[in-house]
Amino acid sequence: MKLLQRSKIVPQPNGCHLWVGAKTGCGYGRIVRVVGGRNRNYMAHRVAWEEDRGVAVPPGNIVLHTCGVPACVNPEHLCADTRTGMAGRLVFTYTPRQIKPMTHCRRGHAFSGENLYINPSTGGRVCRTCQSARAARSYVLRSSAAELNFQHG
Ligand SMILES: [Zn+2]
Ligand SMILES: [Zn+2]
Repeated sequence: MKLLQRSKIVPQPNGCHLWVGAKTGCGYGRIVRVVGGRNRNYMAHRVAWEEDRGVAVPPGNIVLHTCGVPACVNPEHLCADTRTGMAGRLVFTYTPRQIKPMTHCRRGHAFSGENLYINPSTGGRVCRTCQSARAARSYVLRSSAAELNFQHG
């Protein structure tokens, strides 16, 4: 016995077969059938896909509308796909952020010409202005330490 009642399908000029029977809150066609004394709900488009293909929708798959009309039950507008496949397409559409090359040091000196020094061991950019300022500071520290040693020695 076919679940899909032809009387509840209205073909549209655009090729969609609109389900005019019961619908879910989302607008999907809904078929209620009594199985073992209990009401069972079937999604009309899933049933349409299964009746057309002659097989059950594979486990983990959902039936998608290529026309975007939830109430459409035209098997030609339906395709089965996995939920993960869907999620994958949605998740991996972003493009990674570009890392801008540094043009200036933290103190705003340009990394160019004489001021730029590439550290041969790390490949990192070194600002000569800051580098010499650091060297001068450590020289002052060393010399004052030497002075202290001299005074106390
Ligand atoms: Zn359609
Ligand atoms: Zn600098």
